[in-house]
Amino acid sequence: MATSSFCRIPYEPPAWASKLKKIPSSRVKLAHADTPIHEWKVPGVKAPFTLHVKRDDLTGSTLTGNKVRKLEFLLADALDKGCKHIITCGGIQSNHCRATAVASAQMGLKSHLVLRSKLKNSEDVPCNGNLLLDRMCGAQIYIVPWEGTYESHLKPSMENIARGIKESSGEDSYLIPVGGSNSVGLFGYITVFHEMISQGILDNFDDIAFACGSGATAAGLAVGNYLNGSKLKIHALIVCEDAKFYNAAINEMLDDVGLTDVRSEDMVDMIEGPENQGYGVSTQEELDYFVQVGIDTGVIVDPTYTGKAVKFLVQEMNNHPDRFKGRRVLFLHTGGIYGLFDGRMDNVLKQHEMTNRVKILYD
Ligand SMILES: *Cc1c(COP(=O)(O)O)cnc(C)c1O
Repeated sequence: MATSSFCRIPYEPPAWASKLKKIPSSRVKLAHADTPIHEWKVPGVKAPFTLHVKRDDLTGSTLTGNKVRKLEFLLADALDKGCKHIITCGGIQSNHCRATAVASAQMGLKSHLVLRSKLKNSEDVPCNGNLLLDRMCGAQIYIVPWEGTYESHLKPSMENIARGIKESSGEDSYLIPVGGSNSVGLFGYITVFHEMISQGILDNFDDIAFACGSGATAAGLAVGNYLNGSKLKIHALIVCEDAKFYNAAINEMLDDVGLTDVRSEDMVDMIEGPENQGYGVSTQEELDYFVQVGIDTGVIVDPTYTGKAVKFLVQEMNNHPDRFKGRRVLFLHTGGIYGLFDGRMDNVLKQHEMTNRVKILYD
């Protein structure tokens, strides 16, 4: 049946999570779950460490990455509340906004994306990377200044848009914060922790690491780990903001679900990349590394999140091995591939003489 696959289904949390507060009553199934775990021989990992990767870049083709995991709960909540419009926000090449646009279209909801950009003319906004998919899914796009913060621009714009929709059509909108990180989206990675238990991570790994951008991936995994006796050490590789920002964001989510006796500071090891240039900005060394990861392993990392994160991780394993609980490290690949399609890699590939590998076979 055409509509049945995206219906809400009742949500039962894993037994270990059943004491949490604000457990969602339903979810939708959007992600291709049970994503594989395999060894990953990225450049620079030295014995006795071993690195594996969990491929949450394989949660879907256009839905790729970690955001769809949160959207399974957020969009179910939107349907529960009778909303017809989904409004969310992020950077101009936001993976979260793209996943929201795709999932909304699949579910018959209208998406509205508030995007931060340096562009002032709507005609200059390109049709590349995530934006191409946003547009192909019929998303309405609104641009706010690149420097705008959640409080100064994103949230007020979302609220204005919701008000306008209500006034003109009488229809309700569902607002999703940056990255889908709140106590509803949190259940996405609580669910993934459960999935990973069934994949044997409690026995096979000592440490788990991933890129941290808005915090709910870290929070969900930290809650899962804590409620299962903290068998692993959780490392959040920070690609923007700082440790203080994420501890506050995660503590707020913990409070919301009634975990007030434990704090983010005790559950998550925040690793700030020493040379981090800021959100979406890469050093030459980082860009070189991303290319080498592709050549050596066939797994593509993105410049904004996963590439930076794995580079910081390998550096940290080499420079501060004692920061890790053991030597069996699992990297969670959180997606982001469409961020590569905005043209920024063209020059890097030229520098690596990888654009010369073309022979014209006719005369
Ligand atoms: C959003 C995002 C992250 C960060 O996840 P959060 O839950 O927002 O911290 C990591 N990697 C990719 C590719 C992302 O799009």
